[in-house]
Amino acid sequence: MIFGFGKKKQDADDDRDEELELITFQGPVSGSPPKLNDNPGLVRAGLVPAKEIVSDAVSRDAQLLRLDPKGAGYLGMMMVDGMKYPGPRLQKQQGNAVTQILKLLAGLNIQERKRPQRGSIKAEYEGQPYEISIDITPTPNGERLSIYIINLKTRPNKPDEIGISEELKEKIREIAGTREGFIGVCGGPRSGLTTSTVGVVRSVDAYVYGVYSIFDTGTWDIPYVTEFEREAEHDLETTIARCQRSEADVVYAPPIKSEEDAKVILEAASKSALIAEFPAKDAVSGLLQLIKWTGSQELVASNVNAIITSKLIRKLCPSCKQAYAPNPKLLAKIGLPKETKALYRHRVQPQELQKGETWDSCPKCQDVGYQGQVAMFELIEMTEGMEEVIRTKPSPDAIRAQMKKDDMLTLQKDGLRLVEEGITSLEELQRTFKS
Ligand SMILES: [Zn+2]
Repeated sequence: MIFGFGKKKQDADDDRDEELELITFQGPVSGSPPKLNDNPGLVRAGLVPAKEIVSDAVSRDAQLLRLDPKGAGYLGMMMVDGMKYPGPRLQKQQGNAVTQILKLLAGLNIQERKRPQRGSIKAEYEGQPYEISIDITPTPNGERLSIYIINLKTRPNKPDEIGISEELKEKIREIAGTREGFIGVCGGPRSGLTTSTVGVVRSVDAYVYGVYSIFDTGTWDIPYVTEFEREAEHDLETTIARCQRSEADVVYAPPIKSEEDAKVILEAASKSALIAEFPAKDAVSGLLQLIKWTGSQELVASNVNAIITSKLIRKLCPSCKQAYAPNPKLLAKIGLPKETKALYRHRVQPQELQKGETWDSCPKCQDVGYQGQVAMFELIEMTEGMEEVIRTKPSPDAIRAQMKKDDMLTLQKDGLRLVEEGITSLEELQRTFKS
């Protein structure tokens, strides 16, 4: 397999397979256990290869492994901290068997091959719990398999681990503390949207306010947030109303997927604070999306309190990052305080070493220079000025101009904070905004 780096890279390729510990699959996250005994042929053909390729991806800290049906086989791609790397190549038959067995393990319908499906598998690798999500997308060449890997033990969960600064946390508390209005969290694909939303919910002071979730939050266990029992026959509107009557100050609602959801949630936001995620590439698009969904500038202006969006950025490896004294002109240009003594960057590469210097490989990041990701945040607040913009001329430019006027938190500003704190580099910040 062609791969630029990895924990096991130092091992010779041929003994690598023997050393790789195999993941154990423990059945679907929701639903009944799969009937492996009814599919002996599929188990024989697919189970071991499926375990091998997933274990390999997990051992390399990949968050995504994708197998795309191409020509006579399957072409693999992995994503590690948001960067793409080549993945395994499989023969058509083996790729099919791997796809089908993972569908079976995730509790999906293996007979269905024409429609998208999504499910998750509980798993364990090297003593750590994982959630492996299986996403199936039909293509003209066959089913595309996307495997999302989450280490349930190490995934960020507290607001500061997720990247929410003290100032932003304070702001969220203040906004949710009014006990009314909608706080929307939006983001694009693979932006860590649910993680950010959980961070926003956790930023609310659950000691002081009654915070309830009205849906199954899956593997997220959110401290001090009570799950409100939803009756099967009750729709979203009724469930929110019942929850609000039982003294909820803040309701964590399921992801908004339709016009109907958006209208129900925004209207209910006059009786308690509501938090929900929804897909939109950034905060400005999110605000416009809500106007489109509800068909009412007035409803958005009066019942939305904040729109939060996040974008992921790689963190510098704490073991090998290097400090440098920034040029004062550069600091002025990018808007960092002139007192900033040191910034950090990815260390010099072997080819850039000066004479006499030696190169020691970094065991922590395998010389990638970065390890893990953190989110940068943007916050649109419904200030008086912003309400006026939404009511009269809600264009992207007008919204951005108002954000600037009211000095709101932007991704750029929050990213610079991470640079100033030495968590990431200026180069990484630039790369993130280019990509
Ligand atoms: Zn390192």
